[in-house]
This record gives sequence, structure tokens and C-alpha cells, in this order.
Amino acid sequence: MAGKLYLVATPIGNLEDITLRALRTLKEVDIIAAEDTRHTLGLLNHFQISKPLISYYKENEKVKSKLLIEKLQEGKNIAIVSDAGTPGISDPGEEIVKSAIENNIEIIPIPGACAFVNALISSGLSTREFCFIGFLSANQKEKREKLEEIKYETKTLILYEAPHKLKNTLEEILKILGDRKIVLAREITKIHEEFSRGNVSTILSNLQEVKGEFVVLIEGSFKSKQDVNQEKMNGQTLEEHYEFYEKQGLEKKDIIKKIAKDRNVNKNEIYQYFLNK
Ligand code: SAM
Repeated sequence: MAGKLYLVATPIGNLEDITLRALRTLKEVDIIAAEDTRHTLGLLNHFQISKPLISYYKENEKVKSKLLIEKLQEGKNIAIVSDAGTPGISDPGEEIVKSAIENNIEIIPIPGACAFVNALISSGLSTREFCFIGFLSANQKEKREKLEEIKYETKTLILYEAPHKLKNTLEEILKILGDRKIVLAREITKIHEEFSRGNVSTILSNLQEVKGEFVVLIEGSFKSKQDVNQEKMNGQTLEEHYEFYEKQGLEKKDIIKKIAKDRNVNKNEIYQYFLNK
């Protein structure tokens, strides 16, 4: 019988955040696949757990997934852990889960700490709907493109960021998204846990030595892309409106439908208007 694949969340700072179930699972599995075996060894030693470890990090995820699947098929139970928090969340995990599903291997999540969830619930921003982005690209052009893409997202935005890139990321947020309300959640569950809340410009001007781990939360846009397009339309003549969609390569029939929808009028009215032109 094939073994089971356990996705085990580990603490994001405070070791008391490990769950009883995580500890039992780590004790009972045959192998632990860890993002950084040395790091995980520290955790296991703390809880007096001794287990064979296999390294499983982003760059070798595909190759190691194959090996892990073979072991699972031999009947070994395997736990996946990352350096901190929930595997698969800006951490390795996705590949092995996909392969396990393809190979009919049972997947069992063992819930626990996750930085963005705890940052979000403490942020004071809307928790009803949110959009987790994870790390922005280190490439400045790609970073800007991503920020442009999410500029009109109305849900709370959540980013992970390395301390040495934080200042630049906040500057880009200010330039592209504007002076929005943001929250910096720093060192969650650790001694220097801190939540800074304010507009981007204020947070930036108060930013001193940037140390520790950060989650950046940004209030969603008040205007959606649709609202912005609508505003642009409102000042336009019907001809300009027509041209706008024509440039997008749409056909007359579809352009008329779109204009009618944008202006909340019957499409026959628009059709008649252009017929008489
Ligand atoms: N898998 C992890 C999780 O479940 O949150 C995330 C791993 S990701 C490689 C590491 C990033 O998560 C850090 O750069 C930081 O943005 C965020 N992070 C992790 N621990 C944190 C903490 N204690 N406080 C604030 N942010 C944290």
C-alpha cells in the first residue's frame, strides 16, 4: 500500500506554535522532506524527534518530487516541511502535491502557522476578500508590471517582502498604487512583533533600520478597473467611445453592445445613432 503525504505547518518564529498533531505526525512518518535540512534539524532537536531527512527546496523540487513519489509508492509515509509556516505558501510544496495527485497518493494537510493569515487578521484591513501576491519579482520592471496589474484590485492585497527590498517596494507602491493605507506586519509571533499602520508615505518616512521579516498589506483600491473605464467613458462622445473599442479590434456589433452596456442604455439606441451618421 502506498504511503501518505503529510503537509506539515511549522512555527513562523515562536516554537510554541507547533501543533500537537504536527509533532505526532513528525514523530510517526518515515521520512521528513525539508526545505533546509539543517534548519529543520534544529526544530526536530528542540522537540527531541529523530528522523531521516531529505532536502526538498524550490530549485530541486521537480527532481526530488520524483524520488519522494517512489518512496511513497514503496509505502513510506512522508512529511513535507518548509523553513517556517505552511508548505506551498511562497515555499516548496506545490510540485510534490501535483505529482502525488497524479499518482493517487493521499495528501493530508496538518494546519498551523502561516505569516500572511496572521498578518491579515491583525491588520485592521478588510479580511472579507483578499488577494495574496507573495513575493514581487526582484526585477524592477517585473515588479512594476505586477503593481500595475493589481492597481485596481479592490480586495486587500498581501505581499511578502525581504527586509532589504522593503523600502524600494514601498516607494514603488506609493508611485503606482498611490498613498494608500498599508500595514507592515513585522516579526509575527517573535519578541519584536510589531504592526505599523498608516499611509505609505508616513510609513516610508518613519522607516528606520529595516530588520526582520515582513508582511505588507495594502488596502484594496476604492475604484475598480471598470469604474475607471466608466469615468473615462463618461467624458467621451459616442464616436470616441466607438473608436476606443474599434482600436481593440472589436466588430461593430460587439462595439455597439459594449457601448450600450457601459452607458446603461438600450443597444438599439446606439445602433440607431450610428445608422443615422
Ligand atoms: N510558508 C511561509 C508562510 O506560511 O507564511 C512563508 C515563507 S516565505 C519564504 C517567507 C516570508 O514570509 C518572509 O520573507 C516574510 O515576508 C513572511 N514571514 C515569514 N515569517 C514571518 C514572521 N514571523 N513575521 C512576518 N513575516 C513573516
